[in-house]
Parts: sequence; structure tokens; C-alpha cells
Amino acid sequence: MTYRAKMDLTGRLALVTGAGQGIGAACAEALAQTGAVVICTDIDLARAENTARTLGGEARARQLDVTDSGQLNALANELPALDILVCNAGIVSNVPAEEMSDEEWDRVIEVNLSGVFRTCRAFGRRMLERRRGSIINIGSMSATIVNVPQPQCHYNASKAGVHHLTRSLAVEWAKRGVRVNAVAPTYIETPLLHGLESQAGLVERWLDLTPAGRMGRPDEIASVVQFLASDASSLMTGSIVTADAGYTSI
Ligand code: NDP
Repeated sequence: MTYRAKMDLTGRLALVTGAGQGIGAACAEALAQTGAVVICTDIDLARAENTARTLGGEARARQLDVTDSGQLNALANELPALDILVCNAGIVSNVPAEEMSDEEWDRVIEVNLSGVFRTCRAFGRRMLERRRGSIINIGSMSATIVNVPQPQCHYNASKAGVHHLTRSLAVEWAKRGVRVNAVAPTYIETPLLHGLESQAGLVERWLDLTPAGRMGRPDEIASVVQFLASDASSLMTGSIVTADAGYTSI
């Protein structure tokens, strides 16, 4: 197989969660541009439809809440088995640990960690039946380092969980044809960061601490996801690929 053919996703069926904006929308675009038919899902259907419209071709949109096992299982049974699954949906908030309510802790863990597990379980079952598939979870550099001065213990713990969930599923499913990897991004310019950027001096401080001196763009994460989705990464499973402009190397 040529290297060009290894990167080609023609004929592959992909689903992206949280595809209505930000990193998820960029992942949908990267997969579609390299040939995949992409099902764009988001908790907000209008946003998912907007992404699918931008992609054109055979792209489709569905409303999907990753915390809802009933919805996940129904969609997994309705669709043909996926070739590519990108578990991207995630949320964040800034709350000091000593002030965090049970509800706020549960809300973030439910979407970011339980949501990834439930999505992998629902669509992974069908991949296992076919003995083929590539799952990419969006983790974070926050899984391994703590970003000061942001109080996000629930988010950091959820992303650490995503990384180890990724390794666990990779080991369980490796002999059954399903690869599971994760990407650990630095700060990426998306709507997720808008609330945080309002904190005085925060962005400047990140930039000072980042060896490359800049944040990332959604397409820079999407191209890593495209690689992990493709046969070019056929030996990789259980890998956490860091894309952080050098942030965690210092
Ligand atoms: P965005 O908030 O821009 O996009 C996430 C999308 O997911 C939104 O449309 C959001 O809807 C949707 N969503 C939220 N909850 C659910 C749910 N329960 N089911 C389905 N969809 C849902 O985020 P980013 O693109 O920035 O982030 C994408 C992923 O990348 C997340 O997992 C995030 O943690 C991770 N990440 C982001 C970084 C960054 O700096 N941006 C850095 C490292 C990791 P709504 O807006 O209504 O919540």
C-alpha cells in the first residue's frame, strides 16, 4: 500500500461527537476531506447540521447527547458499523475544589469521562463484531499536568480518566481489530476557551509558558486525529499523542 493510500479514508464511515464547533467540527472536516462519510453529532442539532452542511457531499447530522446511553445504543444499532469514531464532546468550568458542588463535579465527569466510555461501548460493540475500527478520544494535556491558575480539578480528573480508559480499551480490544488512541491537546482556540480568556492576563501567561509561544488551532488537532483514524497509524493502539506546542516538555 502506498503512503498516500494509507492516509486515504475513502469508503470509511466516521462519527464525531461534539462536532458542532471547535475541534469536533475541524475533525469532521479533516475526515471528510480525506474521503470519509462523516456523521456529525452534537447535543445541539442545529450546530451539527451546520457542520454537515459545510462539509457537503454525503455528510449527515444527528442530535446526540453522549451522556444518554439509550440514544447512543439506538444510533449505534441504526447505523452500519463505524470505521472511525471520534469521542470529542467535552465541557469545562472554573470552580475552586473547596467550593465545588456534587452536581458540578458530576456534570463534568458525566460528559467528559462517562460520556466517552458510553460512546466507545455503544459503537465499539459493532466494531468488535466486524473486527475493525479506529477510535480516537480527545484527552488533554490537563490529564498529566495541572494548569495554574485555573481551578479545574473535575476537568483534569476527567481527562486523566480518558487517557487511562483509552489504554484500557486498547488492551482489551487489540486482538479483536479495534484500535483506541487519544490526542492530548494544549490550549486550542475554540469557543470552549472564551469564558476563560476573560480572566485578566491568563492568555499571556499561557503563551509565556508555552515553548512555541502560541496556542493551537482546531485543524492542528484534526490532522492528528486524521492520522490516527487512517491505516498510516496501523501499529498504534493505546497511544496518547501529545499536541501541545511543547507545553508539557518544560
Ligand atoms: P467546544 O465547546 O468548542 O465544542 C464542544 C462541543 O461539544 C459543543 O458543541 C458542545 O455543546 C458539545 N457538547 C457538550 N456537551 C455535550 C454532550 N453531552 N453531548 C454531545 N455534545 C456535547 O469545545 P472544544 O472544541 O474546545 O473541545 C473539544 C474537546 O477537546 C473537548 O473534549 C475538550 O475538553 C478537549 N480539549 C479542548 C482544549 C481547548 O483548549 N479548546 C484543550 C484540550 C482538550 P455546548 O456548547 O452546548 O456545551
